[in-house]
Amino acid sequence: MKNEYDIIIAGGGLSGLTAAILFSKDFNVLFIDPDAYPRHKMCGEYLSNEVIGFLKELDIDLDRESSVDLEHLKFTIAGHRSIECALPQGGKGISRYHLDHLLYQKAIKSADFLQDKVVNAVFDKDTFQVSTTSQHLQCKQFIMATGKRSLLDKKLDRKFIQQKSPWLAVKMHYKYSISDRLVELHNFDGGYAGVSKVENGHVNLCYLASYESFKKHKNVTDFNKKVLSKNEFLKSFFKEAIPAWEQPITISQISFEKKEPIENNILMLGDTAGLIHPLCGNGMAMAIHSAKIAFEELYLYLNDDMSREQALKNYARRWKKTFRKRLKIGRILQGILLNKTYTRWGLWLLRKFPFILPTTIKGTHGKPI
Ligand SMILES: Cc1cc2nc3c(=O)[nH]c(=O)nc-3n(C[C@H](O)[C@H](O)[C@H](O)COP(=O)(O)OP(=O)(O)OC[C@H]3O[C@@H](n4cnc5c(N)ncnc54)[C@H](O)[C@@H]3O)c2cc1C
Repeated sequence: MKNEYDIIIAGGGLSGLTAAILFSKDFNVLFIDPDAYPRHKMCGEYLSNEVIGFLKELDIDLDRESSVDLEHLKFTIAGHRSIECALPQGGKGISRYHLDHLLYQKAIKSADFLQDKVVNAVFDKDTFQVSTTSQHLQCKQFIMATGKRSLLDKKLDRKFIQQKSPWLAVKMHYKYSISDRLVELHNFDGGYAGVSKVENGHVNLCYLASYESFKKHKNVTDFNKKVLSKNEFLKSFFKEAIPAWEQPITISQISFEKKEPIENNILMLGDTAGLIHPLCGNGMAMAIHSAKIAFEELYLYLNDDMSREQALKNYARRWKKTFRKRLKIGRILQGILLNKTYTRWGLWLLRKFPFILPTTIKGTHGKPI
């Protein structure tokens, strides 16, 4: 490991790993993450098909990895019949344990990896001084891909960190029988849960819940029993499903506040630039796509064909043009889904005019990249 790099990336999730693969073809790259690979991660594990071709270009062919082709959506709310539609673009069911590991194995072929935490990054005299808990490093461009929320956001005093983050998420793999092609989205009081299969045959149940509704209950088991199980589809799921892990993964303080793609000359990737509501199933594709845009813009700066200022401006402009509309539609959908009256009316409307559901889903996704 060196002390000076062209690019240092904080965060080795999907966006950080994709950026490490792309930049390390032509430049010196270090990516830093506190966790070793492979590891499980909070996620519904539905990867939109819009990035499958691009991953193939990076020599990551998910058809070779037994990923599941997810083509249909089933949506339910408590006390009501379900509604189903074909997913306009479809996606793959693949665990983050497997997907992140595939990208990691590719990244370390040409980039350096440091298992550590970035604690500060300061822009000074046209370079970045980057501190981890054990090292002081330098780079031409620092990229933050630290996900939904990190200590670094606090250190940099980012605006969104001052707002309340009243959401938590729970994920668990089960042995359960479900159609390979189906993604289920089940509404419950204060949240919603996604259920779908991944490459090893396990079924992932992952949900987002408001802290307000969770705090009245003792723990996840109690919450599952008293709140999720009011939806009869989830009730029968919990009756039949056998946990594949001892404990679920949980995270709290999830923020959907607006963020900026560039701050203090630092380029933000994936959730660090903006988190789309999970029900859209597009966060992973956006994370991968944002790394592609960053590479295309910074490539010119790193080859002295453009100023840093211009390259960062171009990235911010393209990021907003590509993702802002999806984030907005996601915000509206989540608002509807968490309001009982709106949800009931919504379901009635979808039954009467079934084309609305696939059209809305399209609005939260992009074209294949
Ligand atoms: C409940 C839930 C369900 C979801 N379901 C889906 C879904 O089905 N489909 C979909 O497409 N999207 C889904 N998403 C969104 C998706 O998980 C994210 O958009 C995606 O993981 C973003 O990737 P990322 O690279 O930005 O961040 P991450 O993958 O979260 O990676 C961030 C990395 O940064 C590291 N890190 C943090 N702080 C530091 C630091 N100081 N120094 C170094 N490293 C650091 C972390 O260890 C982590 O590895 C869901 C999200 C939630 C909350």
